[in-house]
Amino acid sequence: MDNLRFIGILAACFVAEFLQLLSSQSLPVQKHLERQSDWQQKVDHTITALLEPGSRRIIATEKVTYTNNSPTALSEIWFHVWPNAFKNNETGYGVEAKINGNAKYFNAQKTDRGWVEGLDFKINGIKQKWSYHPKYNDIVKLEVVNAIESGSSIEIEIPFTVKLPWLFSRMGVNENIFAVTQWYPKPAVYDVNGWNVFPYKDQGEYYSEFGDYKVSLTVPSDFVVGATGKLLDTAEWNWMATLIGEGKNERSKSDVKILEYSQKNIPDFAWFASPDFRVTMKDVSLPDGRIVKTLAFLKSKYESKKMQKTNGVEITDAIETALKYYSSRVGNYPYDYCSVVIGPLQGAGGMEYPMITICGDASEGTIIHEVGHNWFQCVLGSQERDHPWMDESINTFFHTQASTEKEKEFSPGDKVDANSALLQFRLTHDIGLFQTGNLVSGAYHPFNYGTIVYGANPRRFYYLQEYLGKKIFDSCMHLYFIRWQFKHPLPEDIQLVFELVSKRKLDWFFEGLISGSTPDYAIQKIKKAKDGYLVTVKNKGLYAVPVKLGSRRSTVKNEIWLNGNDTTVFVAGKPEQFSLNPSGYLLESNYSNNDASAKGILKTWDKIAIGFPNLYKRGTQRIWFIPNVFSSNAYDGFMPGLVLTNFNVPRRNWEFWAVPMYGVKSKQFTGMANVQRNIFHKKGPLSITEISMRFATFGFNPDNVNRLNSFYHYAPVVSFYLKRKKYWIQNIVEVEYDKNRITKSYWVAPGDIRNRYSPDLQNDLLRIAFTKNVYRKISPGKFILQLDMGRNYANKIGNDSAYQFAKATLIVDKFIPYKNKQKKTFGFYVKGFAETFIHQKNQGNTSGVYNPVVSGANGGNDYGYRQTMFKRSATFNNGSVWNNQLLPNGIGMRMVPNIMAKSWCAGVNAQTHLFPGIDLQVFGDAVVANTNAKASELFYTAGITYSQRIGNNVFYELSLPLVYSSNAQAGTSPKEFYKYMNFRISLNMYKPTQLIRNIYQ
Ligand SMILES: [Zn+2]
Repeated sequence: MDNLRFIGILAACFVAEFLQLLSSQSLPVQKHLERQSDWQQKVDHTITALLEPGSRRIIATEKVTYTNNSPTALSEIWFHVWPNAFKNNETGYGVEAKINGNAKYFNAQKTDRGWVEGLDFKINGIKQKWSYHPKYNDIVKLEVVNAIESGSSIEIEIPFTVKLPWLFSRMGVNENIFAVTQWYPKPAVYDVNGWNVFPYKDQGEYYSEFGDYKVSLTVPSDFVVGATGKLLDTAEWNWMATLIGEGKNERSKSDVKILEYSQKNIPDFAWFASPDFRVTMKDVSLPDGRIVKTLAFLKSKYESKKMQKTNGVEITDAIETALKYYSSRVGNYPYDYCSVVIGPLQGAGGMEYPMITICGDASEGTIIHEVGHNWFQCVLGSQERDHPWMDESINTFFHTQASTEKEKEFSPGDKVDANSALLQFRLTHDIGLFQTGNLVSGAYHPFNYGTIVYGANPRRFYYLQEYLGKKIFDSCMHLYFIRWQFKHPLPEDIQLVFELVSKRKLDWFFEGLISGSTPDYAIQKIKKAKDGYLVTVKNKGLYAVPVKLGSRRSTVKNEIWLNGNDTTVFVAGKPEQFSLNPSGYLLESNYSNNDASAKGILKTWDKIAIGFPNLYKRGTQRIWFIPNVFSSNAYDGFMPGLVLTNFNVPRRNWEFWAVPMYGVKSKQFTGMANVQRNIFHKKGPLSITEISMRFATFGFNPDNVNRLNSFYHYAPVVSFYLKRKKYWIQNIVEVEYDKNRITKSYWVAPGDIRNRYSPDLQNDLLRIAFTKNVYRKISPGKFILQLDMGRNYANKIGNDSAYQFAKATLIVDKFIPYKNKQKKTFGFYVKGFAETFIHQKNQGNTSGVYNPVVSGANGGNDYGYRQTMFKRSATFNNGSVWNNQLLPNGIGMRMVPNIMAKSWCAGVNAQTHLFPGIDLQVFGDAVVANTNAKASELFYTAGITYSQRIGNNVFYELSLPLVYSSNAQAGTSPKEFYKYMNFRISLNMYKPTQLIRNIYQ
């Protein structure tokens, strides 16, 4: 291939990547001229449905009465037909399953999938024109010939049949329980922002119009049904009351019954049916004296031993706790019934619907949370998909307070338990995954969806409550409830109410803490003054937040509120310890600058504690001390030593690790060390910049003669982690400068004095690499574009005869999964690569280690001394298995003979699993390269490989080539195939930061 053309292609790829990187993903924000409170649509439903358990079908007709209260005439209505989400892997839900790793759904057979059949729309008996959304099959556009004028309504008749899926998400059948949710065609909300249409997702909920419902369900007689609304059939009520304790369901399977339900002013209708339900009921009286009937639908499989004895009264008790707590702190529960189903929900604690909820576990917290959604989403009908904080976060804030299992407060000196919101939230900064509290549900990394929506945001509301005081906070909530019940509040609406009632500006909360970056406050200086201390507080964040300064002397504590700007305050008395944000409710990006002592030289430094790994402790810098007995290489032999590091979660701004060791065979000190400055960016295109200085020294022997050399490796490295536009794509730019010196030391026989002198060989290298990691869980991929520039010289710097080169490398890596019944990893890996010199001078000086590799790159090809290798000077067939170690993510074929290209190579590695879930695979590798003999030459090999990846990195791989082209046999090499066996292991994955990154990618 023509080198210039090749470089052209590389450059084009590079430019394309950068353009994509820079292109904005945001959509234009629609400014609304009207106010959301001025009008809203009304959508009434009359549904008649028949459940056929055998075919898992619901055959139904629906009559929708759509009242257009908007000022605009509507000539189209958008509908959601969400059962279609479960039709295939290309739906909105299917794509989400591939990204988040829902293997169960990805591998599902057709019988377990779900969809809508026989869908049609009629107005006055006449079929209407309708079409699917161009991208999503669960969104439908109905065209209305005569536009619905403002203030008028139309009736739409919709026949439809639902094929229920297996219960992958919130709808479907599992364990003989039919969860019938998001099941009927339903108009999307039309509000001041226009039509709110979106595909069904696991992560992210709904937005529905309010209306009146009349539903008639035909089910087998022995089915017990829990549903939204009021059940109108007295006989059915009486029968359900017998289904508790020893009560047995003795109704006939073959008969059917018709159940009628009715309810005004609700946003949705869900029902759950099973012949196996037991039912517990309890009448609960609300603070205003009204009686609400609570029901628990239980199935023995999901009941604890205790629940079987108590008949699940703890469920109705938890419903009662929720009804009373929310009624008093938010507003009265407006409905007459409230039910909970304990059932086989997948991957979530529970799921809420108006007046009924399904809980995957029977814990008090889950039940209170789900029942609490009757306020936050049902009655206060916010746009959950766009603003999950308005329902999930506020609801979690209340449910954790209603629950008798109270959240533990965090105070200085406390150890943080691994599940705490604080620790998890800080982890999102540590790994460059920080996201704000007001994002669209689908934009959140799944880890963050839990950590931020259910962890950080509720904690921020605790902070607002701490700031306003509970009384004022509750007055704000009451007015919010009264003003917005059965309506669609937007974020600015809740802010307006809170500011109105509290008479305070709360931008710092709604636009700051919820929607913006994380604040950071620091105690900068402590100065003794007359009768007290002067404490200098610095705002390191992007906006000011009211913050508390605490001081204490033994058990006497004092707290004052500061307005959040840079300030120096006088604290009277003789405190021993100062602490900013002592309660920890204000989430900060850095806590290591919050605590200070009154005495000492390093007052604002965290105390240093040395010991074995332990949990993070606020106010303490812990240095880990771990014996290391795992290291060895071919030259130094076994190397016992130590690992010393201050690595912590949350990560510190300055990090270090050092691994001093002693080589038993080489009788010399070896080891590695790294000092790193981490910058966690609050604004701009980057999330983290890591600036580090790496050092390593180990024994080495480049020419395999009976002597020992050592190399010294110094490398300043700067890694830029770009902010993620899509949570599953991480772009990284890395600039690394390596300086390597090799010293010689001779010995002829053991015991001889070693004659060590100045560097014999040196190399300087600059690597600039752009990596795009696609962490799509089921089909990960990777793109790397790398430029190496370097020189290699003997003794003196600036020697004219120094070898100089510049080389470009491109790697594209992809996993293509196959569906399989075992729901295991099963698929096809393909990796394409190309490498070429762009520039070379004085090539004769090197042994070719810098050249593009045709066979697998081994220790000898790690010219940057970046990898941990068992044998660095590997040459084929000199009797040691360590020669057969290949670089972890290098290019080239999986072959040991050291074949190098003259100036360029391009090739493919492919492999596929033989059996689902078993790491044994077959592989085939091919490389085209120019060699000294030919302008271009084809090499290939194929065999079996036992390999495993973590995300998109090879973790370990053991390959046995069985066939190979004759030119890949390396001339004089023997034909014993086992000598071609080779392995890769990625030791870098053991670094703590890398381990944590791998877990949460
Ligand atoms: Zn929830």
